Amino acid sequence: MIIDLRSDTVTKPSEAMLEAMMKAPVGDDVFNEDPAINELEAYAAEMFGKESALYCPSGTMTNQIAIKIHTQPGDELICDVNSHIYNYEGGGISFNSGVQAKLVHGEEGRLSAGLIEGFINPDLDWLTRTSLVSLENTVNRAGGSYYTLERIKPISELCKSKGLALHLDGARLFNALVETKESPKEIGKYFDTISICLSKGLGAPVGSLLLGTKEQIKKGRKVRKVFGGGMRQAGFLAAAGLYALKNNVERLSEDHKKARVLENALQETSYVDSILPVYTNIIIFNLKKDKYTGEAFEKKLAENNIKIAAFGKQTIRMVTHLDFTDEMLAQTVKVLKQL
Ligand SMILES: *Cc1c(COP(=O)(O)O)cnc(C)c1O
Repeated sequence: MIIDLRSDTVTKPSEAMLEAMMKAPVGDDVFNEDPAINELEAYAAEMFGKESALYCPSGTMTNQIAIKIHTQPGDELICDVNSHIYNYEGGGISFNSGVQAKLVHGEEGRLSAGLIEGFINPDLDWLTRTSLVSLENTVNRAGGSYYTLERIKPISELCKSKGLALHLDGARLFNALVETKESPKEIGKYFDTISICLSKGLGAPVGSLLLGTKEQIKKGRKVRKVFGGGMRQAGFLAAAGLYALKNNVERLSEDHKKARVLENALQETSYVDSILPVYTNIIIFNLKKDKYTGEAFEKKLAENNIKIAAFGKQTIRMVTHLDFTDEMLAQTVKVLKQL
């Protein structure tokens, strides 16, 4: 038994998902003629109370399209210093959009209206025009911390009053929503555009969606083509995404429970220095310097058939997911306690 906790992207389609994929009605999506993609886009847009949606190969692409449609070259966007759009999208903010990032030190990766306000540039000749704020929910690098609507609402109001667009990198948005018990429709109201990933905890092999107004998505479709993301009979993949949205959302709370079991097990060990609070399905912890380096720990677990990702010199990240079973959890706890 190989246990893979490197990411929630490692899941493989279930039998039922594969069946949905094989039966998908498909067509050429560049001509807007793929029924399975059209159904997925309509379903997701409806779910979040948005007018329209755009199916893309990755969350990087949906985020980058959003940045492109909300900004002009030479603009500035505001995001947290830990955000995925800044750290893990290959410099796309500047590469694709000619935009620079104002990095804010949020609270566990989360921004607030008060924090953001201080970073919005006034309209002066020598200052960069601030045009976009981007939030991440849940926050990958901060142990899966999440926003509540209470926190989002004033940010949304601030952005409206200052004429800024507000984007949400919701790669793991459903992980947040199963914890807060808030609905997609409620959260949809507060953002101009939202990106959600189908290939993380939801278990689809490929795909992300960008949600927004008809006009934004029309622009986004053009940018997607330019970015090389205009796919043809990709309905086979979209069908997996639709299956995931319909069947794999509620069960995310099981991943969160398992993550807390791992957190508790780690707390009892002698080699862990500190653990970031575990809010959802991501466990990030630091190893004591005199015990293991991240690399050594990764190797040690690999010898026990457990794959994990060193996330820094002394830091480890583990992510629970759909294919991480109860049996695997028991085995992982056993190994963690033996080390
Ligand atoms: C995974 C992820 C993305 C998108 O990544 P892709 O691998 O391009 O699909 C975006 N934001 C966050 C926070 C992520 O974790």
